[in-house]
Amino acid sequence: NPSASSHFIKNIVVEDLKSGKVNQVVTRFPPEPNGYLHIGHAKSILLNFELADEFNGRTHLRFDDTNPVKEDVEFVESIKEDVRWLGFEWDGLYFASDYFEEMYRRAVLLIKKGKAYVDDQSAEEMRINRGTLTEPGQNSPYRDRSAEENLDLFERMRSGEFKDGERVLRAKIDMASPNINLRDPALYRISHATHHNTGDKWCIYPMYTYAHPLEDAIEGVTHSICTLEFEDQRPFYDWVIEECEMENKPKQYEFARLNITNTVMSKRFLRQIVEESIVDGWDDPRMPTISGLRRKGYTPESIRTFVRETGVARSYSVADEKMLEYFIREDLKLKAPRTMAVLRPLKVVITNYPEGQAEMLEAENNSENAEMGSRQIPFSREIYIEQDDFMENPPNKYFRLFPGNEVRLKNAYFIKCNDIVKDADGRVTEVHCTYDPETKSGSGFTGRKVKGTIHWVEASQALPAEFRLYEPLIMDDAKEEGDSFLDRINPNSLEVLHGYVEPNMKDAKPHDKLQLFRHGYFNVDPKHTAGDKRVYNRIVSLKSSFEL
Ligand code: ATP
Ligand code: MG
Ligand code: MG
Repeated sequence: NPSASSHFIKNIVVEDLKSGKVNQVVTRFPPEPNGYLHIGHAKSILLNFELADEFNGRTHLRFDDTNPVKEDVEFVESIKEDVRWLGFEWDGLYFASDYFEEMYRRAVLLIKKGKAYVDDQSAEEMRINRGTLTEPGQNSPYRDRSAEENLDLFERMRSGEFKDGERVLRAKIDMASPNINLRDPALYRISHATHHNTGDKWCIYPMYTYAHPLEDAIEGVTHSICTLEFEDQRPFYDWVIEECEMENKPKQYEFARLNITNTVMSKRFLRQIVEESIVDGWDDPRMPTISGLRRKGYTPESIRTFVRETGVARSYSVADEKMLEYFIREDLKLKAPRTMAVLRPLKVVITNYPEGQAEMLEAENNSENAEMGSRQIPFSREIYIEQDDFMENPPNKYFRLFPGNEVRLKNAYFIKCNDIVKDADGRVTEVHCTYDPETKSGSGFTGRKVKGTIHWVEASQALPAEFRLYEPLIMDDAKEEGDSFLDRINPNSLEVLHGYVEPNMKDAKPHDKLQLFRHGYFNVDPKHTAGDKRVYNRIVSLKSSFEL
């Protein structure tokens, strides 16, 4: 049972159901469509959807689209795709912008009650007059306008009479409140911008902190779950529900956001990385976005398990990226077929193997899962091995190929190195070996032992392939006081190699996942794989010191 473990928000839900305070749990996932979802959002998605699922409740997908400037339908579509891919289906799709008329009416109600006023101060004046943590704020000179005057001005704000920033509508609460968020927060601002949903219908837009509680109340959300930065906003959230006389009274609960080592997880930063072309898009496999993780080769299962394992708490914490890697290895261990690929090829000629001849050898598809069966792979006089599986002058304890040494070729024969061919620069271009037919894999040969086993692919039928190896894009290690995340960008986050895969990879489809022997788990890249071009993204290497 994925949601078996308890946490403080679940305990509250259980209590509320027991006491009859709520009949049905309604939660929502409320992204702003101003970027692609990242793995931090996955935490919010799991929390909201699984909480409702467990108690036969409902979860809304609501686009919190109250800021026209940065929002776009491209983001709306990508968010829907990512939520579904993670394995969740919403019980209703909503747009905050559909409530603009009702939000406006509620603002008019506040004005009539003397709870809101139009302020003509500049943004700078308002900032200064807001006071500080230790100093109370100063009342605006416009604070005591009559309701009639405010209604007139607010209507004229709506009708487009004023320029951006010339006026705002503010709540009238308390400029001396110890909670700065209650010092007459803004409710509406003027913005002559085209909105992705409402077009040019509006030129005033509600502020997020005013809009959000109304959205929750309009939809009948019972438990409004958000991250801890909003804790100080909770009194204002309740104020809006109360003073706007909303029938439904949702409650806000906060939890600590998901952070991961070597990762920035703010759309603002991710957007900057994309816009400055540091990566090749929101779905670059180095991005912590859902689409980036998907393209790298992460499965929904692995992300869900990771997110659950991080728990739901109110204290700050940073999850180790190695934990995420641990869960994808666990997920793919028994599922992904294992094949051989050579990432940095070096040709080996088997001089005693007849020219023009070839044979097929049997190879297991997954040594830990017999159900995956086996495949046939070709073997002949010429093969490729990894460059670093050969050394002309090896150090002690090097058990792979070197002049005079014998190694096992995985799934094939023992070969012994007799000779090397070098180019004009002295680099080894070919290794000449002999093989021993008696040592064939599976033949039960016990005549002698070798210490090294290396992988290979047959040269004439091997398929060229590109391999992309990734390192973290952002490095925590590089952090110095005052560094921005741009100073921490890893210049070596991508290494591109050109090598070969087995011929049975000829029909590999985007998103096929495999384990390349000794190299790790790879995903067939969906963006660059087409026709004869094969691109493999390394999801994760095989080994880790990480223990759960
Ligand atoms: P960002 O700062 O990355 O833009 P956001 O909170 O502004 O994040 P929204 O689109 O408003 O992005 O977020 C939708 C929901 O996802 C919110 O309820 C938010 O609290 C939650 N969320 C965002 N980041 C995280 C995170 N790192 N961990 C958990 N929940 C998160
Ligand atoms: Mg936001
Ligand atoms: Mg934010």
